[in-house]
Amino acid sequence: MSKLIIAKFGGTSVADFDAMTRCADIVLADENIRVVVVSASSGVTNLLVDITKTTEVQQRYDAYAGIEQITLNVLNRLQQPHSVAAQIELLLGELKALIENGGAVYSSAHKDLIQSFGERLSSVLFTQVLLERGSAALCFDVRRIMRTDSRFGKAEPQIQQLAELAAIHLQPLLVEQRIVTQGFIGADEFEQTTTLGRGGSDYSAALLAEALQAATVQIWTDVVGIFTTDPRLTSDARCIREISFDEAAEMATFGAKVLHPATLLPAMRQNIAVFVGSSREPQAGGTWIAKDVKERPPYRAIALRKAQTLITVKSPAMLHAPGFLTRVFDTLSRHQISVDLVTTSEISVALTLDQGGMTSAFSSNVEPALDELRTFCEVSVEEGLSLVAVIGNHLHSSKGVSGELFSTLERINMRLICHGASKHNLCFLVQDSDGPAVVKQLHQCLFAA
Ligand code: ASP
Ligand code: MG
Repeated sequence: MSKLIIAKFGGTSVADFDAMTRCADIVLADENIRVVVVSASSGVTNLLVDITKTTEVQQRYDAYAGIEQITLNVLNRLQQPHSVAAQIELLLGELKALIENGGAVYSSAHKDLIQSFGERLSSVLFTQVLLERGSAALCFDVRRIMRTDSRFGKAEPQIQQLAELAAIHLQPLLVEQRIVTQGFIGADEFEQTTTLGRGGSDYSAALLAEALQAATVQIWTDVVGIFTTDPRLTSDARCIREISFDEAAEMATFGAKVLHPATLLPAMRQNIAVFVGSSREPQAGGTWIAKDVKERPPYRAIALRKAQTLITVKSPAMLHAPGFLTRVFDTLSRHQISVDLVTTSEISVALTLDQGGMTSAFSSNVEPALDELRTFCEVSVEEGLSLVAVIGNHLHSSKGVSGELFSTLERINMRLICHGASKHNLCFLVQDSDGPAVVKQLHQCLFAA
């Protein structure tokens, strides 16, 4: 059985030299960590996005200066900065040239190319940190193997090709040294740089683990694992030591910001255990996500997602007429609107929109879709709602689950309750202003020790 571990360090974990040193200690402590995936240093991707968004050359230079500063701050703390100075200079020079010759607006291909610099810089620096601490290490350009389609900004990895390329180009290198590589970025078949979407480094790490048939992926971040709810909402929140793939996937989808939602897919396909921990406090343990877990409690966690829009579509004329739902969903799908929660009655449908993948193009699709629905239904739109998701096991069949919930939240106005479709979650909408209090109250009731 493989013992290979892939360790991924997020932006805050590689924010500066001291943070990188803590990560190097984690890597050095385990011989089986052979592949290290890094994010861009904290703040760098945002600055790169700023460069792509503004048409003002001065603003682009200001953002560039910020990136240069973060980079040089690490470089200057190295024992042998000259070992990587040329490489860093080359990368910064390339980025600067893209600013100088950028024109007024960047193409989507250029945007991805620009956004790739954060990970390309941090991986060079982190490799040197490892080398200086005595580990054999090599910086590897992930674009040689992370083959994606050409959907810039949210490229889809090509799993089979990634596995083949990794076996040829990456696997043999692991014998002699550790490999440091970039999260978030890839390349299409024309060798154009692509990105997997914001926060995509977790996903990269899991994809590489799948390609290399690793035993474990470690996601090192700035929180000590996954909590029963956002600790900012209640001091009762506790770290979950072990959680199943299914439950963790629901949590990621319903707004727990610890993991990129797609991360668990490759891990589930290959049954690779995922560990989430804090690079600041590795001794504090963390959360293990795996297929088989010892306990399957009815309540595992509560997630809160703000700013939801509820759309109710009603058509009295449709009473007993077939095809109403089809017509509603057909309209939405033609406008490329993805629906999140749904409840229905004979003549009405209430639904929330999936705003997770909401780009500005997406939101501009909403109004035309609603106009089209208005040609055959009454449409009402309610904003300012929060989605509360209770995540756990056998929620669809456990006796008393809704009773417990309703009695706790007696005085709260709940909208759109979804219960029964998934055994791992029960969710409902409340007013945004009630959200935090609802979570706190519910947590106290469901997780009281
Ligand atoms: N650097 C990228 C971002 O900030 C990817 C990542 O950190 O996961 O979105
Ligand atoms: Mg992240």
